[in-house]
Amino acid sequence: MKKLVLLMSVAAVMLMLAGCGSCKHDWVEATCSEPKHCSKCGKTEGFALQHKWKEASCTEPKTCELCGVTEGNPKGHVWKERTMTEPKTCTECGATEGEKITCTEVCVQDIIEMHLGSINKLNCFEDTMGVGFVDSGEIIFYDYDKKKVATVDIVPEGETYRYDFEFISPPLLGQDIALLTILYGPGKDTTIRFYDQFGKELNHVVVDTGLPEGQRIYARNCAAERYVRFNKRGVTDGFNAILVIDTVTMTVVDNGTGYEDVGKYSKDEYSACYVQPTIKDKYALVIGKDGSYKGYVDQYYNKVAIYKDASCFNYYGFALVSEDGKSYDLVNDNLEVVGEDVLKGSDVFWIGGAVFGLEQNGKQHYYCIK
Ligand SMILES: [Zn+2]
Ligand SMILES: [Zn+2]
Ligand SMILES: [Zn+2]
Repeated sequence: MKKLVLLMSVAAVMLMLAGCGSCKHDWVEATCSEPKHCSKCGKTEGFALQHKWKEASCTEPKTCELCGVTEGNPKGHVWKERTMTEPKTCTECGATEGEKITCTEVCVQDIIEMHLGSINKLNCFEDTMGVGFVDSGEIIFYDYDKKKVATVDIVPEGETYRYDFEFISPPLLGQDIALLTILYGPGKDTTIRFYDQFGKELNHVVVDTGLPEGQRIYARNCAAERYVRFNKRGVTDGFNAILVIDTVTMTVVDNGTGYEDVGKYSKDEYSACYVQPTIKDKYALVIGKDGSYKGYVDQYYNKVAIYKDASCFNYYGFALVSEDGKSYDLVNDNLEVVGEDVLKGSDVFWIGGAVFGLEQNGKQHYYCIK
């Protein structure tokens, strides 16, 4: 019995020795999670590797270069707003988005000259400009190649109704209303029609203004999001709208509904104050009482930036400003200069849409900046 036990022990030891020596190891290289090991017998050598982290970038999270495992989120781009020389650019990785700002002269002046003397109102929109004529009851929309896009006749043929119209710039947000016409009569009814920048009628509403025969109305506060307010013509001040139309539902709503855009500004210090319709509640353009300056104030009429001359902000959030009234820089709606000495001239103004006008060599020139 003793001999048998001894024999078995020897066999066991021999077996162990044979097992150890006989595996032809098939080594798998170490990874971040496992040390170098044999795929057959599991024998290991050394330790698992450490992750080799590559820091997160704008678009990639923190990533191990060895095994590809990630941690956290990408950092996201740090955008610098576009300028006249660079598109919107990430300051971290240099990625770009969109185009740089362009400034191109548009031929508004040619159209004015085509109709010299008879133009009543003119307004630029994104793709067209609208020209209203005195006494013809007609409004023509042109594209920027001077091609006629549409003619809007306000007064029915053979009728002699009185009418008014207003261009709305920028178009009422979300609803593309670029023009409204007011046709008085017959009787007490007043018909107000709304058109887009291509002269297409979008909607109309028939109202009784409650005013005596002969009394006219005008639209003010057209830059509101959805409400158009009407005052009695001849009443240039005050905010007592006699009619408010909700252009979403095309219904007359109670006075006082909606968005009052002026009035909270001090009238004492400035000769005029234009609230900026495209950058709501951010700045208003003011003109000093003696006309010696123009600039921007916040909603509490604190001065934010004052220049010799400045324009309203256009539909794309750009304005032209000048320190000397001769050379104009372009600013974005954070009042960062995004173009230096963009235009030379004087008496800049915003004509609607993307377009600014200014006087150059005794003549008006118009520029589309977007
Ligand atoms: Zn092995
Ligand atoms: Zn790793
Ligand atoms: Zn980036």
